[in-house]
Formats: sequence, structure tokens, C-alpha cells
Amino acid sequence: MSEKIKVKNTIVEMDGDEMTRVMWAWVKDYLIMPFIDVNLEYYDLSMEKREETKDEITLQAAKAIANHGVGVKCATITPDADRVKEFGLSKMWKSPNGTIRAYLDGTVFREPIICKNIHPFVRTWKKPIIIGRHAYGDEYKATEFTVPGPGTVNLVYKPEDGSEPVTLEVHKFKGPGVVLGMHNLESSIRSFAQSCLVYALQQKVDLWFSAKQTILKEYDTMFMDIFQEEVDKRKAEMEKAGITYWYTLIDNTVAQAMKHEGGFLWACKNRDGDVQSDMIASGFGSLGLMKSVLVSPDGKVETEAAHGTVTRHYRLYQQGKKTSSNPTAIIFAWSGGIKHRGQLDGTQDVVDFANALEDATIKTIESGTVTGDLARLIQDTSTPSEDSYVNTEEFIQAIARRLKETIGVA
Ligand code: NAP
Ligand code: MG
Repeated sequence: MSEKIKVKNTIVEMDGDEMTRVMWAWVKDYLIMPFIDVNLEYYDLSMEKREETKDEITLQAAKAIANHGVGVKCATITPDADRVKEFGLSKMWKSPNGTIRAYLDGTVFREPIICKNIHPFVRTWKKPIIIGRHAYGDEYKATEFTVPGPGTVNLVYKPEDGSEPVTLEVHKFKGPGVVLGMHNLESSIRSFAQSCLVYALQQKVDLWFSAKQTILKEYDTMFMDIFQEEVDKRKAEMEKAGITYWYTLIDNTVAQAMKHEGGFLWACKNRDGDVQSDMIASGFGSLGLMKSVLVSPDGKVETEAAHGTVTRHYRLYQQGKKTSSNPTAIIFAWSGGIKHRGQLDGTQDVVDFANALEDATIKTIESGTVTGDLARLIQDTSTPSEDSYVNTEEFIQAIARRLKETIGVA
């Protein structure tokens, strides 16, 4: 039995809600704390704690990630009207992910975890396709207007320096119709491009960016030009990492992605990212195998699972039933955060531990010890036989046994 691996600097830990909170504790108890000696700065982002602190705790957690550079986060409830009633909330608090992302000015990357026995629905996909979605503006901050009848709609820009306004005609309506005004910011597009480059360089994957500048000649050209400028600034680093940048039209990218073996980061505008991330996630298989990483333009990283708090399973857990919820993406949130900490600190043994944890998890799945969602995929049925999968705690214990065999601690 050897010593625990020492992690040099602090990791910010954000606890969450429901089934993911339950799995979070098991992952920590069985797979993290027995093996590494780490200083965790703990923030409880549970619904109850956010209510108690008037959501101050979320902002504190965001500041802590900015301070330490690495955070790992459990899924949290984003309250709606039903949740306000359920928890007796004084306010419909905002999504913690939105608060943290806004504070760090970050971009979210979604990436599938690949296992040999879980076959993507798209036969050519062998390596992950990572989606980076711009999270500001366009359709999501648009002004819309239903045009009731004949009349003219103009776009008017009034400069603050008092110079002449600019007026552009959108359309002379002869009858009813609809109109939309949307915008984006140079600064936000640049942060997005920078975050994409940081992540592509970290992961050593090619970067693709797609838009439609043939149609949106000013709008999408601004995106395209900013990406090219940021890429040009990091040419030497990209060469060293052996990665390339490719810009192409969004419809062409969709066609190429379907025929490609994967292993690239696809940067998408807000709406394209919304659509394509669901396509990629479903194409690869289970939500339990999707990672989510928030990266700020200056390289701060927060890792989490892409799925929510798995409420349906939690209701069963509350009745004392064992569930077969899949903790894989939560394990990878921890391993991803630990790996990034090790890379920042220059501690190879910490990076090796994170890789060993991921390896033990994938090998456990590939050996056939799986949770219910994966059994469904492997057997191609919505009702896999009960003896073909294990419950969550058994699954985590199987990974722990394998991990102990490889690194011999605890
Ligand atoms: P969800 O938690 O992602 O679960 C939806 C369904 O997907 C589950 O019922 C389950 O399907 C399957 N699933 C998801 N994760 C799984 C896992 N790890 N293992 C096995 N199956 C898994 O989405 P939701 O039920 O719509 O949302 C629940 C709560 O999560 C909401 O309050 C929402 O606000 C919150 N949420 C948080 C985040 C976040 O913090 N990042 C993200 C999304 C949603 P079956 O029922 O078929 O087994
Ligand atoms: Mg969506």
C-alpha cells in the first residue's frame, strides 16, 4: 500500500441536487478521496443552500473558480414554477450554470465518452466530436415584432457621438408578416474564439468553425474574421500541438461531420450549437456518457456532467429503491478537473491518476459491467433483462476495484 497522491493546489468543489448529489458522494468516497490528498474548497449549490444564501453561494463559487482556475460541479436544479412550490423558494433563482458562465465569460464544450461496446448510431464515428456553443446573443437576445399589415420596418443606428444616424430598410410590408432584430458583440465573439482555441490546444484536436457568411455577409463575416485573427495569433502553438483550423459553411460541416471519424472540436454559433449538440449527443448514445466543460478565454476550467439531476431516478431512490443511474459523466467531471489541476501544477502523478481513473471506468464498461442505460444501448432494447446490469453503487465499486489493481492504493 503506497501513499496517497498529493495534489499541489486547490480544486473548487460544487455540490448539487437529487440523484446526482447521491452519486457525487459515492464517487468521492470510493474513487477520489481514498487515492488522492487534495484541498477541496467546497460550495454547496443545492437548492436549499441557494435559497438560504439568496443565491450568493453560486457567485462565491464562480469567484472561487476564477481564483483557483479549476472547479468540478455536480448537476443542480434550475428552478421553474413547480420547483418554487416544492422548495418554498422566495424567488425563482437563476440557473447556476448561467451565473457561473456569465461570471467567467466562458464557453461550454460537450464531449461524448467513447467505449468500444457502446456503438454510436453513426457508424463512421470512432472518436469524440466536441461541440463548442457560443452562449451569447443572436436569436437568444433578439427583438421580435409581428407586423399587423402594410408598412415599412427600418433598422436605425444612433451613434452616441452625435454623428448622423444610419437607417436601413428591412422590408416594405404589403401585408402582415413578422420581423426580427438580433445582435452580437465583437468582445463576446472574440472570447468565444479564444475559449475554443484554448480547449482545442488543451485537448490536441483540430478546430472547425462553421457559419453562413455567404448569406449573412456582414454578420457571419465578423465571426469568421475574428476566428481567423485569433487563430493567426496562436499559429505557432497550434503547429506545436499538431492541430489545424478549418472554416467552412455550416451545411457543408454537417455533411462532413457525418462522414468523418470524429476527433475534432466543432465551434458553433448559438443556434447552430443548440441544434447540433443534441444531434451529436443522441448520435453517440447516452446522456450518462456526455461530459461538459466550461472554459474561460483565459483558460479557467469547470467540469461537469452534461445531464441534469436525473429526477425520475431520484424519486425511486427516495422510496428506498436502488437505481441504475449512470455515474460515468460525473466520474469524468472529477477526472477532468483533477487532470487540469495536475497540468497547471506540473504534477505528472496527478495527471496519471486522472487518466487511470478514466481508464478503469471505460474498462469496467467494456468488460460488460454496466448501468441500465448502457445495457439498453448494448442490447438495443428499451427493456434489458435485470441481470444484464448493476446498480449505481455496485458499478462504482467495480471501478474502484479495478482502479486499486492498477495503482495499488487505499
Ligand atoms: P436529466 O436529469 O438529464 O434526465 C433526463 C433523463 O435522461 C432521465 O430521466 C434518464 O432517462 C436520462 N438520464 C440522464 N442522465 C442519466 C444518467 N446519468 N444515467 C442514466 N440515465 C440518465 O434531465 P431532467 O430530468 O429534464 O432534469 C432534471 C433536473 O436537472 C431539472 O431540475 C433541471 O433543471 C436540472 N438540469 C441541470 C443541469 C445542470 O446542472 N447542468 C442540466 C440539465 C438539467 P430515463 O428516465 O429514461 O431513465
Ligand atoms: Mg437545446
